Amino acid sequence: MAHTGKIAARRAVALSVVVPCYNEIGGVAELYRRVTAVCREQAGHSYEIVLVIDGATDGTREAIFELAKQDSHVVGIDLARNYGHQIALSAGLEFCRGQRILILDADLQDPPELLRAMMAKMDEGFDVVYGQRLKRQGEGWFKRATAALFYRLLRKMVDVDMAIDSGDFRLMNRRALDHLNAMPERYRFIRGMVSWIGLKQVAFAYERHQRFAGTTHYPLKKMVLLAMDAMTSFSIVPLRFASHLGMIFGFLGLAALGYTLFSWIAGSVLPGWTSLAAIVLILGSVQLLVLGIFGEYLGRMYMETKRRPLYLINEIAAHDPAAGKLPV
Ligand code: UDP
Ligand code: MG
Repeated sequence: MAHTGKIAARRAVALSVVVPCYNEIGGVAELYRRVTAVCREQAGHSYEIVLVIDGATDGTREAIFELAKQDSHVVGIDLARNYGHQIALSAGLEFCRGQRILILDADLQDPPELLRAMMAKMDEGFDVVYGQRLKRQGEGWFKRATAALFYRLLRKMVDVDMAIDSGDFRLMNRRALDHLNAMPERYRFIRGMVSWIGLKQVAFAYERHQRFAGTTHYPLKKMVLLAMDAMTSFSIVPLRFASHLGMIFGFLGLAALGYTLFSWIAGSVLPGWTSLAAIVLILGSVQLLVLGIFGEYLGRMYMETKRRPLYLINEIAAHDPAAGKLPV
């Protein structure tokens, strides 16, 4: 994609940790410390920490580039602007060279130390070990309730065995990641795409912690958008819902027509204004709803057909054992 041959020539390592980072200045140092400790323990020196800077404006970029300068295990990828969590993660996943890949959030809500147990689980022969949140600390009831509802609804709507209550926190092997990287779509709901791959996957229950620093970058609006991406990219059930709605209202309309004809024959005079207004309003809004659903799919098809790259990279900060220090 946006990579040069030079980057593709990077040497493989046993373990990659991929972290999308937006404005996470308060947590970067702690993230680096904890991830490094657990990587050393699990992979000796054969690991890399890929930190994708998603258009940060708070000094996160400088902090990460400094880390990359000091530690050859750290790679900083500065994207050209803020592309959003799922695209930033995709950039890191495409770039990384590990045989095993851990996806982590920068805010330490998912403890990196769980890697130990996840590695052990993978040793049993699984391709993907995905985190499943038992409890979520420090997240309001609204976020928890909407998330729980969303995962259950999504699961009902799709054919894929979609994991419930699981975010992107997971350990994958190279085989699974190569399949994921081969999916070119731009509306990316990565946890769903990984479920779609199949292979041998297993849940790993854990408790989600509070953010180490800062506040969430997923306000309600972004949560709704992610949910819409998930639904539209994994299911055409909403389109079917539109036609079902049409059928239901068709039958209701027939019944109403029968009633009207009957009253006409019976000669009763109807006042009519209220019922007419109600019918017009209801039908109008149903039509708009259905059009809106069509529009969601159509718009996504339009965006996909442009075939723009998913993201552009501004700069990469990395020591490369094979190619020497990459130009920064
Ligand atoms: N993130 C990102 N780009 C964005 C928003 C978020 O790279 O536009 C990163 C963020 O730095 C974090 C992860 O995505 O590492 C998850 O975001 P956050 O913790 O805000 O979401 P939440 O855990 O509240 O759902
Ligand atoms: Mg978070």
